[in-house]
Amino acid sequence: MSTPRLSADRESCIGAGMCAMTAPDVFDQDPDDGLVLLLHTEPPAAHLAAARMAVGVCPSGAITFHAPEPDHA
Ligand code: SF4
Repeated sequence: MSTPRLSADRESCIGAGMCAMTAPDVFDQDPDDGLVLLLHTEPPAAHLAAARMAVGVCPSGAITFHAPEPDHA
């Protein structure tokens, strides 16, 4: 089965750090500018729930989950 893919838009990120606090195994903050750093574009299953929660708490909508590509029919 395919894994949903995450993307983080550093242009939209305001460095609030909610994602890194909510899902520290998936997101970090850049030590230089405080903007989001994506640690996994395809989060391991164990971190999917936290990653989804982080998408919900991000105040700027900078992180997005993309539906997995459908498996070959
Ligand atoms: S929660 Fe959103 S705005 Fe805050 S650091 Fe993460 S991506 Fe950026």
